[in-house]
Amino acid sequence: MTLTQLCVRLFKCPMLKLNCFAEAPRSAPDEDVESWSDVSTVELDLSSNRLDLNMEDIPVPTENTFDVTLPATHSYLGQNLEELRGRTILDDGIYMNLPLFIKQSVLFPGQTLPMTVFGAQTIDMLRTCIQNDRTFGVVCYGYPEMERIGTTAEIYEYTDGGIWLDHGRGEFRLKAKGRQRFKILRVITQDNNKISANVKVLPEITLEPPFLDQRLASLDRLRISIDTEEDMKKQERVENMDAALTPWPAWVYRQYDPVRLSFRIRQHLQFLETRGGSVPKDPIDLSFWVAQNILMDHNERLMLLSYDCAISRLQREIKYLVEDKIYVCVNCESFIGRQSHMFPMNKEGPQGTYVNPGGIIHETITFYHIQGVILSPSTPSIEYSWFPGYAWTVANCKSCRHHVGWKFTAVESNLRPKEFWGLTRRSLKNKDLKVKKKK
Ligand SMILES: [Zn+2]
Repeated sequence: MTLTQLCVRLFKCPMLKLNCFAEAPRSAPDEDVESWSDVSTVELDLSSNRLDLNMEDIPVPTENTFDVTLPATHSYLGQNLEELRGRTILDDGIYMNLPLFIKQSVLFPGQTLPMTVFGAQTIDMLRTCIQNDRTFGVVCYGYPEMERIGTTAEIYEYTDGGIWLDHGRGEFRLKAKGRQRFKILRVITQDNNKISANVKVLPEITLEPPFLDQRLASLDRLRISIDTEEDMKKQERVENMDAALTPWPAWVYRQYDPVRLSFRIRQHLQFLETRGGSVPKDPIDLSFWVAQNILMDHNERLMLLSYDCAISRLQREIKYLVEDKIYVCVNCESFIGRQSHMFPMNKEGPQGTYVNPGGIIHETITFYHIQGVILSPSTPSIEYSWFPGYAWTVANCKSCRHHVGWKFTAVESNLRPKEFWGLTRRSLKNKDLKVKKKK
């Protein structure tokens, strides 16, 4: 096996050891793929970004016996992690110094970040974090320099395997939670893996409902919380009367109503809730949840992180949910999956963030159906599986052999679904779905 082949295998396989801190770059595998099994089922025509396929009759798995709380525990990191109690809340607008971790994709508030790190300097940084407020900053790589907006991450469990002095390396595993957004004002040190910065913690601006101040108090008894489309219509009639006091018609104000925006977004995400998923109701939580779980371009996600208000984020996100999207291979744009085929196998949503033993972080979106991929001939493995009870098999794009994710297969006969797919976010990009029905 060549060195390139070895590197590719280490990047894709959760179970294999790789002593590196940074996330691995994309690389197309050059393995012998003659014996890989083909799971493509339709012919596609992407020459004009149109698809000639019929995917409407793919059955949705109705039975789910898997405990979706398990993946969120990240039990593959081991059972010996020490729990840290308490919560660090930084004041809005505060200036402070933060140690930084640079990763390939955006961390949003509320998102879980599991990590395994090996560099002595980084381990030293994390130890200092735990002694202080358990908080470090996460920012993305950027060009020509790192992005200026990031999110604080608070460590809530960790295990310190020590540093092997003869190699200057060690092993440190942790689970952290995205908390608050910040802006980098000045990078203070930049010594290999050890970077810190002077930052400003960004405020989360909350606007009151648009008709709170200029409303007809006599109509208060008619105001209701919006849980159904019928509630929405009743509320609109009340708002129309409220708007008589204002210079603008009611529909103008509705565009800035966080409750209405959240309701609309949750309507589009109902397909996830019917499949056992849990979608937040709070507008702020929902705005970050959508940014994390729905596949968007990297720059779009950075833009969402830069907004100070949930209303702006929700307004931008709703356009991603109005129409079904398709996911294509980031390398060759071959069709791989479809947004409506997402399937939550983690209580936190259809996208979970997981780390392999090599320290490589994969944001993995789960689907009950994909196509256009080939499977590794290797025997499915349960080692270091992110979904306890399921064995994983590496899946590559059929057209270009780019690694796209894994097929997970139940190893216990009573486990449902029997199989599903986990696709890594960095291997995909989205396109609008324009289906040309076959005649
Ligand atoms: Zn491809």
